[in-house]
Amino acid sequence: MKLIDHIRDIKDFPTPGILFKDITPLLGNKTAFAKAAQELLELIGDQQIDKVVGVESRGFFFGGVLAEKLNAGFVPVRKPGKLPHTTVSQTYALEYGTDTLEIHKDAIQPGDKVLVHDDVLATGGTAQAVVKLIEALGGEVVQCNFLIELSFLSGKEKLQGQDIKAVITY
Ligand code: 5GP
Repeated sequence: MKLIDHIRDIKDFPTPGILFKDITPLLGNKTAFAKAAQELLELIGDQQIDKVVGVESRGFFFGGVLAEKLNAGFVPVRKPGKLPHTTVSQTYALEYGTDTLEIHKDAIQPGDKVLVHDDVLATGGTAQAVVKLIEALGGEVVQCNFLIELSFLSGKEKLQGQDIKAVITY
């Protein structure tokens, strides 16, 4: 069974000209879901992780699973206004305009070893913003961990100095 066979290309989503990688067939297949979780875990090896930071919203599916398997806590990074307690935020550039992400200020303790997880690494802007949030709170990012890397978008260039790993690379 190949994980890649459970990822569906959607043309012109969410906007014209984008070929979107839809992971919902993988999520919905019990064998593929379990295999993806196992392969994401194997990317980390035996490194100690205190917190897994999952990025809204598709980073939540495996982020929680990884936290449980790693005996770590789970921390959500969310879009503005979604987190109820005191937050720190980071604004980053998109192709057109900007976006903002937030994390609870008390979610990371100085010295925490942190795994960043999201479904897709595209241009890298999202993951770069998440790394900045974690570092602003004194956390140490051990790895940026993705199900899919779209290598032709060169997201790694925005994450220099980080360990970037993905299960599937296009
Ligand atoms: P970046 O900031 O690296 O350009 O974009 C990554 C973010 O956008 C991730 O949070 C990811 O969920 C989402 N994203 C971008 N392109 C795709 C895609 O083709 N498929 C999926 N599932 N998510 C994408």
